[in-house]
Amino acid sequence: MIKKNALKYLGYLNNQVDQQTDKLLNECLLEIEKLKPKFMYQIFSLEHHPLLIKELNLSLEYSDLIDLFDSCDKVVVIACTLGIELDKLLRYYAIIDMTKMTVMDALASSYIEIKCDEFEEKQNFGKHTFRFCPGYGNVPLEINKKLVNALNCDKHIGLTVQENNLLLPQKSMIGLIGIGDEKLNKHCFSCINLENCIYRKKGQRCYKKD
Ligand code: SF4
Repeated sequence: MIKKNALKYLGYLNNQVDQQTDKLLNECLLEIEKLKPKFMYQIFSLEHHPLLIKELNLSLEYSDLIDLFDSCDKVVVIACTLGIELDKLLRYYAIIDMTKMTVMDALASSYIEIKCDEFEEKQNFGKHTFRFCPGYGNVPLEINKKLVNALNCDKHIGLTVQENNLLLPQKSMIGLIGIGDEKLNKHCFSCINLENCIYRKKGQRCYKKD
């Protein structure tokens, strides 16, 4: 599954790669699977009209979130990172082997997404929505800073936010999951590959739209 998703991110929708690329993918996968993702989350109350995380007094009054959370009374703020060592590794490969860096990057995106899904499943959140990451649709990246600070992610898992509101380490995720409703259809709003997505640039999606 990690490889399959990575191939998707690299633009191989049919999973067909030559032997050499497959060998490189397998080599890189071994390195990626050594990484231990760090997770944390906290559950807060939601207020509606306007949509707000009550304890943080943080407005979520954006149409995408209003739709997603319309039947939810709680929200999970969940964070995950693959750590700064991976950033160093990617920078190293960017200098010595750009192809390997690209493959590693795609595998790392796939790996964190799958590990987050697995982690979520184990938490027994009950009826819950898909994870929504700020930066998608009309929900601004600026929210990242408030969410990371609210959870004290720096102290617990070494996750911070840069001046441009992107997360650091690079392969990290902070997202929102509504509790009380089951909107689980595949969507781009949880995708860590969103910024580099070759499908969206062409007005396409890597999955079948409803
Ligand atoms: S951003 Fe959307 S279309 Fe692009 S890889 Fe992610 S889920 Fe697929």
